Amino acid sequence: MDFIDLKSQYAALRDNINARIQKVLDHGQYILGPEVKEMEQALAAYTGARHCISVASGTEALLIALMALDLKPGDEVITSPFTFAATAEMIVLAGGVPVFVDIEPDTANIDASLIEGAITPRTKAIMPVSLYGQVADMDAINGIAQRHGLAVIEDGAQSFGATYRGSKSCNTSTFGCTSFFPSKPLGCYGDGGAIFTSDDKLAQACREIRTHGQSQRYLHTRLGVGGRMDTLQCAVVLGKLDRFEWEIRRRLELGHAYRAKLSAAIPSLQLLAVRDDRDCVWAQYTVFVDDRDAVQARLKAAGVPTAVHYPRPLHHQPAYAQYAKAEDCPHSIAAAARVMSLPMSADLSEAQQEQVVAALSAALA
Ligand SMILES: *Cc1c(COP(=O)(O)O)cnc(C)c1O
Repeated sequence: MDFIDLKSQYAALRDNINARIQKVLDHGQYILGPEVKEMEQALAAYTGARHCISVASGTEALLIALMALDLKPGDEVITSPFTFAATAEMIVLAGGVPVFVDIEPDTANIDASLIEGAITPRTKAIMPVSLYGQVADMDAINGIAQRHGLAVIEDGAQSFGATYRGSKSCNTSTFGCTSFFPSKPLGCYGDGGAIFTSDDKLAQACREIRTHGQSQRYLHTRLGVGGRMDTLQCAVVLGKLDRFEWEIRRRLELGHAYRAKLSAAIPSLQLLAVRDDRDCVWAQYTVFVDDRDAVQARLKAAGVPTAVHYPRPLHHQPAYAQYAKAEDCPHSIAAAARVMSLPMSADLSEAQQEQVVAALSAALA
């Protein structure tokens, strides 16, 4: 069993994806070719955002969105320490200071009720992460941002396709950033990502930053990066879009089935909470266990791969320890010690899911 089954997905989409790739090889416009715009238009329409700017990766999406906000050295960006390193890394790279706010213990997303207490005169933005595929509490976060004149950047690298109070992830705030890393809910076959915004000026800034700050060819009006997404990778995303709605439905179904099967087989197992006003597309199907190393070893022996997202909160990583006290964000510390992700992808079969549940049940017995 694969932790994430990309082979079955390719088998189902082979003709579509191959034809899309072949078309790029035939026209030869490898950089900013027609598939780039086609993908951007399709994804903007999907999310409802006015603009989609494709970029080289999810990491680059975060960096470019932050650069578009013109952070000054010392400007603070509030975020969660329970995330992939790129979130805080790009804040620092853009010249900002990450300010870590703890998570809700049941959803593992940033606790919006703690954000206001972390705002200072230097705060410039809030960067919630829609972890595991569930959008953070954006209405509460946007309300705080509005009262204090802050921008909000959703790190939606894991949540593309998720819905929050009727809005799609990446279209719930100033910016939404996502990743097309192969294992994400919408993946390409290499690195890719996108920024979504409905602000025309910020969209233009992102487009310029993406190509070395050029407002026209060889006129560099601002600092930028080489941050474009390849035409070939956009073609792969386009080749996957026909089935994407089905995949999202399937992910939601598998999430419900995991919940039903796990809570029946292992009533004491702590599952991730999903709020009633949103769904979770399960970039990872993550549960909470004690004695994780032993549980993972038993599952591995039973042929069930697992992973840990993430084993340390960022303020316990050497590169980011300076931004908080070690004892800050206790729920993030506790979650990092207990989270374990189970196999998940749209092509996971019911039989495989049952094998996972039986193996976890035995491993915890
Ligand atoms: C994957 C991920 C990123 C980075 O995306 P890349 O495309 O790998 O650069 C950023 N934030 C979160 C939460 C992620 O899961």
